[in-house]
Amino acid sequence: MIHTSIFNNTADLTNFPFKKVIFGITCANFLFERYVAYRQYKLLKSNDRKVPEALKGRVDEKKFIESDAYGLAKSKFEMVSSSISMCINLAKLTMYSSIWNYSVSIGNSILSTVLRKPFTMSLIANNVAFFILSTTISTFLNLPLSYYRHFVLEEKFGFNKMTKSLFVMDSIKKLILVNTLGSIPLYILGLVLKKCTDNFVFYIWIFIMGLQIALFFLNDLVIQPMFNTFTPLNNKELEDKINALAKECGFPLSEIYMVDGSKRSSHSNAYFSGLPFMKKKIVIFDTLIKDSSIDEVVAVLGHEIGHWKMNHISQMLIVNQVHLSAFLMLFDIVFKNVKMFADFNFIIDPLSKVPTSSLPNSEYAIVSDFPFFVGLLVFSQLIQPTDLLMNFGMNLFSRHNEYQADNYAVRLGKGEDLKKALVQLQITNLSTISVDKLFSMYHYTHPVVSERLEAIDKFTADQAKKSN
Ligand SMILES: [Zn+2]
Repeated sequence: MIHTSIFNNTADLTNFPFKKVIFGITCANFLFERYVAYRQYKLLKSNDRKVPEALKGRVDEKKFIESDAYGLAKSKFEMVSSSISMCINLAKLTMYSSIWNYSVSIGNSILSTVLRKPFTMSLIANNVAFFILSTTISTFLNLPLSYYRHFVLEEKFGFNKMTKSLFVMDSIKKLILVNTLGSIPLYILGLVLKKCTDNFVFYIWIFIMGLQIALFFLNDLVIQPMFNTFTPLNNKELEDKINALAKECGFPLSEIYMVDGSKRSSHSNAYFSGLPFMKKKIVIFDTLIKDSSIDEVVAVLGHEIGHWKMNHISQMLIVNQVHLSAFLMLFDIVFKNVKMFADFNFIIDPLSKVPTSSLPNSEYAIVSDFPFFVGLLVFSQLIQPTDLLMNFGMNLFSRHNEYQADNYAVRLGKGEDLKKALVQLQITNLSTISVDKLFSMYHYTHPVVSERLEAIDKFTADQAKKSN
């Protein structure tokens, strides 16, 4: 019954060369990103870079050279790592069917051993097994790059505070987390797709929204504490000032925590977390407290509260939900397309007695119904161009919000302290000072510090004019 309707739905896409188009898109995307990276690389290599006007007298020549050297080192590393990732990506795309066959065979034999009787997983479980095997393969293949980034690149500039044993522990914890936290929702997603064939976009949207809320609580209660230690703030003066600020702004503050960000890196930061309509907790990195004065930390929090006051988080959430629904509606069009799966060596055989009838060493995967997770992966590759545009749009939106939050801190009378804190963050994080326009449009969610300082000065002057 399901199958007849599928063939009718997608009759117009039976000749679409999915594999060629996806490979083309992936390569074009890669070339675009290389072009953007090359522009930044060329800028950092050039000799006519100068300390921007707004940073003059605040950042010395030595820091300027060091910051850009760090940017250059990151840029070189990125060139190599992205090329390797691209090769892994393309190789995996061609090997989906083999990975599928192996994952089903491994999963069946593990479960048969555990249960002490021959066991055949359902098709939904086959998807989960495929997910686990392919994530595990990717994690191992990416390990050398991640190792190099921490222990060579970050180490060279004095950021790495991680020991090798912590790196190993982190990698194991992350792999287990991704596999367990990914498998459960994936299984439920499979059930929803199977049961609600008619209005699946709506049901999945509801499901994912529930998942996001669940993940939020899990992140706060389980995931973050697995990696870091959160301690209540032990600085009375800072605590009093933050409480006074929260009161002044009507910010529903519950607790203030300090997190040992310095355990892994000396990069520093602060943020607040909490769902809309709920009390929020503020988290400050120990590194920020160490490097900045109390008033500067309070100014940074003034900026963070600005985000809350202007509903930036809710707006982002809404944009994300719209994006997600559009994604699902498009996915609905290709989800049950026989040609798309055939292009990746998946043969759908509804008459098959078992969910997967192909053997591990076979080039083709013969499955009794559409492997939805494979479809999801292939489809995400297909819509990379819209994701790219979306990325530009989201960055633009986010940068606009950053300026607004800065202005809010200025209105609280914290403009000067915020400027000092931003310069300090720039120095401790060694943020690249010279940034190419297209590079920053594509990669940066925040304006560069010199742009922010200029905007703060301009807004402060405007405010002064208004009050006169
Ligand atoms: Zn911000």
